[in-house]
Amino acid sequence: MLWLLCGPCGAMDSQALVIRIKIPDGAAVDWTVHSAPQLLFRDVLDVIGQVLPDATTTAFEYEDEDGDRITVRSDEEMKAMLSYYYSTVMEQQVNGQLIEPLQIYPRACKPPGKRNIHGLKVNTRAGAGSGASEALPSNSLKKSSAELKKILANGQMNEQDIRYRDILGHGNGGTVYKAYHVRSGKILAVKVIPLDITLELQKQIMSELEILYKCDSSYIIGFYGAFFVENRISLCTEFMDGGSLDVYRKIPEHVLGRIAVAVVKGLTYLWSLKILHRDVKPSNMLVNTRGQVKLCDFGVSTQLVNSIAKTYVGTNAYMAPERISGEQYGIHSDVWSLGISFMELALGRFPYPQLAVPGGMSDLKVVLVCAL
Ligand code: ATP
Ligand code: MG
Repeated sequence: MLWLLCGPCGAMDSQALVIRIKIPDGAAVDWTVHSAPQLLFRDVLDVIGQVLPDATTTAFEYEDEDGDRITVRSDEEMKAMLSYYYSTVMEQQVNGQLIEPLQIYPRACKPPGKRNIHGLKVNTRAGAGSGASEALPSNSLKKSSAELKKILANGQMNEQDIRYRDILGHGNGGTVYKAYHVRSGKILAVKVIPLDITLELQKQIMSELEILYKCDSSYIIGFYGAFFVENRISLCTEFMDGGSLDVYRKIPEHVLGRIAVAVVKGLTYLWSLKILHRDVKPSNMLVNTRGQVKLCDFGVSTQLVNSIAKTYVGTNAYMAPERISGEQYGIHSDVWSLGISFMELALGRFPYPQLAVPGGMSDLKVVLVCAL
């Protein structure tokens, strides 16, 4: 049984563990756990979710004796944290000091390698292509997309109406934020990419992005609009509360099979519109707690892809050989990337040995500086 207590805390008995959840604005909430041995990582995330209902918290941190922050994203890591904490408690007891609560710091950004902490469930029953949403318990998502599309059609998607909240992740091109859209009251994901380009190119990108408004599939991320402010473009899309598949590590085969169905349906839909995805990889496959799987970040605007590529230093680990060598490529190149991605998701690691790159970049799989 877990109790959530607010207020100052200093005392601790042998059964109770007091966890002090530090909130980003400097405040703190104390939580008394009366059955610490049974405490699971997920329980802690659930309580953080009650304390910070608007944030997507996927991990938390604690401080070691040197003040370094250690990330906790699994039961094992939590055990290590508790064992470290109890050793400090013993020291405090020996020295006759007041027992300090265990301080933790919720972390909103995705950690590398968290497990299926969202209780991922996959639903591939929804019809592709038509936007049919029979997978949804109500029409709420459909309605929200419709509302947002209406806003967009009126040219109302702009920076003033967007309140940026958490950072969902950084990619090579830019940063993705969870954001609140004031006019519709909806939560969005906004990808902000710095781009130093002419007005002419900006216009070209905006017109190339127009096809995204027509995309209507339950396997493709909903697109709400884009705008330029100074030297950066913001792309507003549907927010997926389960994040991307790259952080789920090894996914059981029966779940992965269903994910594969959704991804293939998404790709088939894009190909039917003569759009190649061009960047199929686990971080571009998003999931939500409704059990939906959707593709994002497909290369619909050649100008946008080229503009990002000029400053891009990223991985081509999922890229088909014909693309790496600059030959003509097509649907089969997306299929190659799909295969590598699913091997990774099934194995829980990238399928090929990692290459050590001289100069200390040993963590990179393959490094490519695109100069397209
Ligand atoms: P790259 O830049 O090489 O494509 P990436 O796909 O990891 O790498 P981004 O596309 O910038 O980089 O995305 C960063 C992270 O933001 C993703 O890995 C994902 O976890 C998160 N993210 C992106 N779009 C959404 C969304 N619509 N809803 C929720 N999370 C998202
Ligand atoms: Mg991406």
